[in-house]
Amino acid sequence: MTVKAYGAHAGDQPLESMDIARRVPGAHDVQIDIAYCGVCHSDIHQVRSEWAGTLYPCVPGHEIVGRVSAAGAHVSKFKVGDLVGVGCIVDSCQHCDDCADGLENYCDNMVGTYNFPTADAPGHTLGGYSQQIVVHERYVLRVRHPETQLAAVAPLLCAGITTYSPLRHWNAGPGKKVGVVGIGGLGHMGIKLAHAMGAHVVAFTTSESKRQDAKALGADQVVVSRDANQMQAHINSFDLILNTVAAPHNLDDFLTLLKRDGVLTLVGAPASPHPSPEVFNLISKRRSLAGSMIGGIPETQEMLDFCAEHGIVADIELIGADQINDAYERMLKSDVKYRFVIDNATLAG
Ligand code: NAP
Ligand code: ZN
Repeated sequence: MTVKAYGAHAGDQPLESMDIARRVPGAHDVQIDIAYCGVCHSDIHQVRSEWAGTLYPCVPGHEIVGRVSAAGAHVSKFKVGDLVGVGCIVDSCQHCDDCADGLENYCDNMVGTYNFPTADAPGHTLGGYSQQIVVHERYVLRVRHPETQLAAVAPLLCAGITTYSPLRHWNAGPGKKVGVVGIGGLGHMGIKLAHAMGAHVVAFTTSESKRQDAKALGADQVVVSRDANQMQAHINSFDLILNTVAAPHNLDDFLTLLKRDGVLTLVGAPASPHPSPEVFNLISKRRSLAGSMIGGIPETQEMLDFCAEHGIVADIELIGADQINDAYERMLKSDVKYRFVIDNATLAG
């Protein structure tokens, strides 16, 4: 089946309307009419070939929500009409230790929602900037939010789980002081989630103009990270800092804010490396520098249910597909409050 999509033919070209093929649903497949798709900074890194190995044409998008429009004969979890989501994962080996643990995100054979080799035409996966997608039911999530919130649910499928998973892994909660660095798509979700988990939340931003917003999102304190005095006031005090920044920067500024045994977790994935941290900032207080990548399917469902229960959605700007190139430029200037979401109905033209 042919559907409309938005994608790029090369790293130095803008995204444009294109036709792509979707497979006929197999026995375990769910076909989804995509209503909305969030715009992640990873989409920019990938479509512009900032990370190695982009396959073209590249149709990004891994914050997908919509309705089931067909289901294969052996699909047991979903039926036509259900509200569902698809995040960054559409397949994995299903038998390694990581898959058995529900951590498909760490499976060596994980298949990402776009830009991963697949048997389907054109030989690699194509993402959610499209009218439809066909996915094995194991990788489809149930959406329990009201349908009126559907557009604002989309960013939970990547920005939500990518911040929820490390917050849970490193036990964000009451009595813990948690920092969130960068108030963009991931960061604003990190603030909301850490606040809902009961942590004392400090937002770090390079944008003084986001101070009031950060408070409204749930930050107890806001620090402008370029102000050395404001940073110094928090030295040796954090249990956990979640760093979502999409550009290389000095990690020592944040490592020194951790208390003994504190953890700085990187989720931002810049195209070029951060300067190496100063070893003495790690060994002097047994601090850890860590990383985390999205989250597994069971935890993604847990996160969606947690958000539905706590009334959490993303703060979004809804755009038409033809605004995507402008949206990328605005994201590069940190000018989005706080996630662009494509209205996929506009793909029809
Ligand atoms: P985003 O919406 O563009 O937000 C990034 C934020 O970082 C900006 O809003 C800005 O916040 C801050 N920032 C940008 N440039 C900066 C600089 N030079 N120095 C300091 N701060 C800067 O991006 P996103 O969608 O949240 O994604 C963030 C990163 O996470 C990307 O690299 C993306 O690829 C990566 N990512 C990783 C995973 C994973 O699994 N680990 C999943 C999804 C995305 P302020 O204005 O507040 O400073
Ligand atoms: Zn993403």
